[in-house]
Amino acid sequence: MTPTDPREDVFVLAHNYVRREIQDYADVVGDSLELARAAVESERPYLVVAGVDFMAETAAILNPDRTVVHPEPLAQCAMASRLTVAEIESARARYPGVPVVTYVNSSAAVKAVSDICCTSGNAVRVVESLEAPRVIVAPDRNLAAYVAARTGVEVIPVPALGCCPTHQALSPGDLEELICLHPKAEVMVHPETSPAVQAEADFIGSTSAMIRRVQETDATTVIVGTDISILYRMRKLAPNKILVPASHLMSCADMRMITLDLVREAVRTRAPVVRVDPQVAAGARRALERMLAVGRDEMSSGPLRRDLPQAGPGPATVGAGDRPGYLAK
Ligand code: SF4
Repeated sequence: MTPTDPREDVFVLAHNYVRREIQDYADVVGDSLELARAAVESERPYLVVAGVDFMAETAAILNPDRTVVHPEPLAQCAMASRLTVAEIESARARYPGVPVVTYVNSSAAVKAVSDICCTSGNAVRVVESLEAPRVIVAPDRNLAAYVAARTGVEVIPVPALGCCPTHQALSPGDLEELICLHPKAEVMVHPETSPAVQAEADFIGSTSAMIRRVQETDATTVIVGTDISILYRMRKLAPNKILVPASHLMSCADMRMITLDLVREAVRTRAPVVRVDPQVAAGARRALERMLAVGRDEMSSGPLRRDLPQAGPGPATVGAGDRPGYLAK
């Protein structure tokens, strides 16, 4: 990088679900929690977030002294955009005193009226940290069910039918067909998939937990139940594994809206800048910082569906420069 390189003061963050060429271009690739932490740790004055709107908003909220750029403002998480502040307020009125845990896949305004945020990588730990018998979890009913199954806490999903369309597209039948074709494969899925799909899985975890697992499992073949863009990074880190997408329908349309050209243009122009109302940002920051103080869940897993082969290639060697959970450049 030369002194005139437009990237010298820009840090580019890419989610595991963006196009492969953006993953190669970025300074760091990770899940929502890792990107939030990496944004805080980076010292460069400009942050370009290659992900959907709430990820760029989160970076802006946690880094008020820096300029955060979102290459494609129209890339808006479909699940996040369905949850309103009014729904949270209505839930609070129906369940007085019950804490509200909001998935980071939500708007800044919704975060601002929540007690604490969570990601799929720390939802269980966040809920347990509240030491409450009942919690409201928004806006993903599937993540809510995942948390309820792993804690002794009564979980109220808000909205009752909130979900990610990308993950909801995977059905148990899709998995059963693939398991017939690959009977020795390990099945891993994201907590945003339906409980019926999770019941078919050998392993359930966040995107980063899945990436770690694919390197560590003894299974030679792995069926991957999350956005198919993650396979690119998995294949880099575990080149000796046969990775089978659980469904080619699992491709987030909003993540695909972000192209390398848009990211490069954002780096060059340092625009469009993400702006969050200061009062909303202050409320959202409180909920996010409370989450960041809690930490990450241990690697999660579902019940083993069947015996998996114990022999097989050892874990892939992680390339020099990789840190656990990050693909840093
Ligand atoms: S995959 Fe689902 S939760 Fe993630 S950004 Fe796309 S719509 Fe939102």
